[in-house]
Amino acid sequence: MSSAVPSPRRRSIPVRVGKVVVGGDAPVVVQSMTNTDTADIKGTTQQIAELWRAGSEKVRITVNNEESAAAVPHIRDRLAMMGIDVPIIGDFHYNGHTLLEAHPACAEALAKYRINPGNVGFGKKKDTQFASIIEKALQYDKPVRIGANWGSLDQNLAAVLMDENAKRAEPWDAARVLREALVRSALDSAERAVELGLPKDRIILSAKVSGVQELIAVYRDLAARCEYPLHLGLTEAGMGSKGIVASTAALAVLLQEGIGDTIRISLTPEPGQSRTNEVIVAQQLLQTMGLRAFTPMVTACPGCGRTTSTFFQELAKTVEEHVRENMPVWKLKHPGVENLTLAVMGCVVNGPGESRHANIGISLPGTGEAPSAPVFIDGEKAMTLKGENIAREFVGIIDDYVAKNYG
Ligand code: SF4
Repeated sequence: MSSAVPSPRRRSIPVRVGKVVVGGDAPVVVQSMTNTDTADIKGTTQQIAELWRAGSEKVRITVNNEESAAAVPHIRDRLAMMGIDVPIIGDFHYNGHTLLEAHPACAEALAKYRINPGNVGFGKKKDTQFASIIEKALQYDKPVRIGANWGSLDQNLAAVLMDENAKRAEPWDAARVLREALVRSALDSAERAVELGLPKDRIILSAKVSGVQELIAVYRDLAARCEYPLHLGLTEAGMGSKGIVASTAALAVLLQEGIGDTIRISLTPEPGQSRTNEVIVAQQLLQTMGLRAFTPMVTACPGCGRTTSTFFQELAKTVEEHVRENMPVWKLKHPGVENLTLAVMGCVVNGPGESRHANIGISLPGTGEAPSAPVFIDGEKAMTLKGENIAREFVGIIDDYVAKNYG
């Protein structure tokens, strides 16, 4: 039986963003975005730290006014005092040119500028404002992401393309014209930035839409027409499972085709939910596709009428939490631990078989089975756990395995 593998990564020019490389042979990078008021230095620093601890390799923040621009260097310094060196990306709309000019410390502290060609300026001012942001990127030696978004599409360009389309012998449908406008907006802006002197290895592109099929079509087109690294994300993906499923559906297709150098999952958090969920989903997407490994993966069965107790669900959760809590230390002390595989299974039907496929697996007793839980290590039955302390003992077995087998 042949196994499915992703297509080779599309060739792209590597771009350095702070200490992180995007594109080229670098692994697909996970990024996230804060939702704090950037002028709130303490709150924003704290959220960036949380996102970084969760595994975000770059963090984008809104820079929308004088106060937020003034806060940026302080945020960077506070993070440095906490030992956190994560590239911070400034998200600019409308007034980026004035903020970067008025706040040199902000321009210097940011690792990358993200600009949207649809709202960098309007009418005659568009070109000069775009040029002044590129000038700042050159002055401070920063890369730029040119991020088109169809919620803020360049209306002049859309109108020009609509006119061109009307003259075609066989006009395209409106959706195709809009997709072309989005792709052209990103490509034309990149060309303009290069004309202004920005080297090609300082440009990353994105062209986001909120529909799954549209996003796939737009990125396939963009990928075929340039060598810039691509930032993937389904914009305004939504809340909960809908946001996760829609983002995964779109990004998985593209990543499987070798398209995409950095990803963000734009989830709307549930009230009170941690912002870090978007990082965890991005990591899980890359890891379940076999593109990267971040943390030991826990395979757990869904449960069914053969196991009416909730114990195996609780054990699966305990193991997941234990792994996630320990990863910051394990990562440093036990290199390679992210490749560890674990299984927590609910009964004898698939339990021993699935457990044998994992590095460490446990097959809990289903309804009516003897109250004992065989544990398999690297495919062999190693011991049987019984009694009240199965969870604690199983976690201990994991810790021992990690200490003995990694670093
Ligand atoms: S392993 Fe057992 S409990 Fe779990 S889904 Fe399969 S049959 Fe049901």
